[in-house]
Amino acid sequence: MLLAVGIFVFNQKQVANPARCADQYTNADLNEQLVMSVLWMEKSAEYRALCYQTFNLAKLRIDEELQKKHTKPLAVVVDVDETVLSNSKYEAWLIGKDKQYSKDTWSQWISDAEATALPGAAKFLNYANSRGVSIFYITNRHESTRVGTLKNIQKVGFPNANNEHLLLKTTTGNKTPRREIVKKDYEIAIYMGDSLTDFTNEFAGKTIEEQKAIADNYLQDWGDKFIVLPNSEYGNWDGAIIKNKWGASASEKDAMRKAALERWQPKN
Ligand SMILES: [Mg+2]
Repeated sequence: MLLAVGIFVFNQKQVANPARCADQYTNADLNEQLVMSVLWMEKSAEYRALCYQTFNLAKLRIDEELQKKHTKPLAVVVDVDETVLSNSKYEAWLIGKDKQYSKDTWSQWISDAEATALPGAAKFLNYANSRGVSIFYITNRHESTRVGTLKNIQKVGFPNANNEHLLLKTTTGNKTPRREIVKKDYEIAIYMGDSLTDFTNEFAGKTIEEQKAIADNYLQDWGDKFIVLPNSEYGNWDGAIIKNKWGASASEKDAMRKAALERWQPKN
């Protein structure tokens, strides 16, 4: 009974002092929002089927390109995280902890090289490579993670898993200059990624509405030159929702996410 009264008084204080409520909302609370998105990617056979569907489409596109005449050898450019490797276990590790993504823990996760291949990724990449297509990995993992990243893509059996074909981030997250390096010697048949900036940097720093408008401009390219993998955990979208204010508090991020929801308003 005393305990019940105590909780009641505590709750009354919370209501009376919203600032205190906000302070008490931690990253552990915010990380609860990851539960369903991580479960979807780890457990749903729908996600698995979507990955197979995506890589099957990529194979069809490669077969089409191989029928055409090209002046340069063909290449496939893939992003790494949530495009060919799954980091869901890192996201799942955050759940229940008062932590957020950090360079330190992310680097540690990479050096462990425990990321698994997306369903269908190794089969597709090896197929393309067996047909003479080079695979380039353009990722915004930092250059300092090269050893762990190479170890991981080798471990899961991806082709061209060597220094020449792995273009990590050095000074900029803009992938355009790295795409240009590949284009000097290759014709890029398809780009694969889970974030819009894996295709063009036009999406960088844009609002959700702007991103949607740019996506509309490329209507004919999706499933053709640009092949997208689903990612419910993070992407250009979640940054845009919090206006890229990564330094905001957990309660501010929660408020911005909730404010962005499009909700049904019952008439009565
Ligand atoms: Mg990615």
